[in-house]
Amino acid sequence: MKCWKKYRLSFKLNLRLLIIFLTLFFLIGCQKNIEPPKTDLPPNIDERTAKLFKLKEKIVPFFKPMRVQKGDWLESFPEEGQTFEQYINSNPTLPTAERQIIYIQPLGDFTQTQKKVLQLTADYMKAFYNLPVELNEIKPLGNIPKRFQRKNPYEKQLQLKTGYFLNDLLPKMLPKDAAAFICFTNYDLYPDDNWNYVFGQATLQNRVGVWSLWRFGNPDKSAEDYRLFMTRTLKVAMHETGHMFSMPHCTKYECLMSGSNHLLEADRHPLDVCPECMAKIAWAMKYEPTMRYQNLSKFWKEQGFEELSKEFEEKEKAVQ
Ligand SMILES: [Zn+2]
Ligand SMILES: [Zn+2]
Repeated sequence: MKCWKKYRLSFKLNLRLLIIFLTLFFLIGCQKNIEPPKTDLPPNIDERTAKLFKLKEKIVPFFKPMRVQKGDWLESFPEEGQTFEQYINSNPTLPTAERQIIYIQPLGDFTQTQKKVLQLTADYMKAFYNLPVELNEIKPLGNIPKRFQRKNPYEKQLQLKTGYFLNDLLPKMLPKDAAAFICFTNYDLYPDDNWNYVFGQATLQNRVGVWSLWRFGNPDKSAEDYRLFMTRTLKVAMHETGHMFSMPHCTKYECLMSGSNHLLEADRHPLDVCPECMAKIAWAMKYEPTMRYQNLSKFWKEQGFEELSKEFEEKEKAVQ
C-alpha cells in the first residue's frame, strides 16, 4: 500500500516535472531564435581584431597575475593599467608608412660584449615588434654642459640628466623615417634632482628615448652576469619602445610592460608581454601572433636559451 501511494505521488511529480521541462525547452527554443548570440567582443570590430580577442585568452596560462610587493612600482605609482580594447580606443601612436624604422643609437664608449648585446637588442626588437630596426654606428658623447651633469648624492658617480638627451641632443639626430629613436649610454641617468636615478626615459612627442646600461652589471664577469646584463638590456629596450607606441604600464599580469621601481622588480618581469599587450602589438604592427612566437622562439634558440625558446614554441602552439 505504502509503495503504491508512493508510486502515485511519484507519477504525479514526474508528470509535473515533464510539463515544466517541456515548457522550459519550448521557451529556450523560442529564445534561441529571437536573441542575438551572446559574445564578449566589443561591437563593430573587424575580423582580425575579433580574432586577437580570442587568441589573447589562449596564452593566459603562461602569465602570472600581478602581485605587488613592498617597494614595487605600483606601490609608489598606483596606475590603472589598460586592456586591449582600451588601447584600440585610445587612438595610439602607430608606425606609419613614412615612419616605421626603429633606430638604436649607442652614444659613448662600449666594451666588445656590450656591443654584442646592442646587436642582440636590435635583433630581438625586430622579432618583438615586426618593424625594420637599424643599429647605428657608435657616436661619441662630446661635451655635455655642466648643468646637465651631477654627482649622485648617495653613490657619488657621475650622472647625466635625461633632459639633455630628450630635448637637446636626440631631436637633432632624429631621422625623418624613425618610428622611434632609441639611444643607449654607459652613463647613469637622472630625470631631475628629486630622483636618485632612472633606467631611462622617453618622450612620445619627439619619438626619442635614452637608456643607460650603467646599472645592468658587468657582462664579462661571469656567464650569469652576462645573462643578467643581456636580459635587462633587452627588457628595457622593448619596454620603452612599447611606451613609444602608446602602451602604458601593465598592471594585470607580471608583464614586460609592467613598471619597475628597482632592478629586482625588473628581473622578476618576463621577457615577453602578457595577453593584453600581445594583442596590442599584434594589432598595432599587423603581426600574426604565430609568426611572432616563431621568431621569438628562434631568437632564444640561437642564444642557447632552450627553455625560453620552448616556452615561445608552446605559446605558438596555443595561438594556432
Ligand atoms: Zn615604463
Ligand atoms: Zn601586459
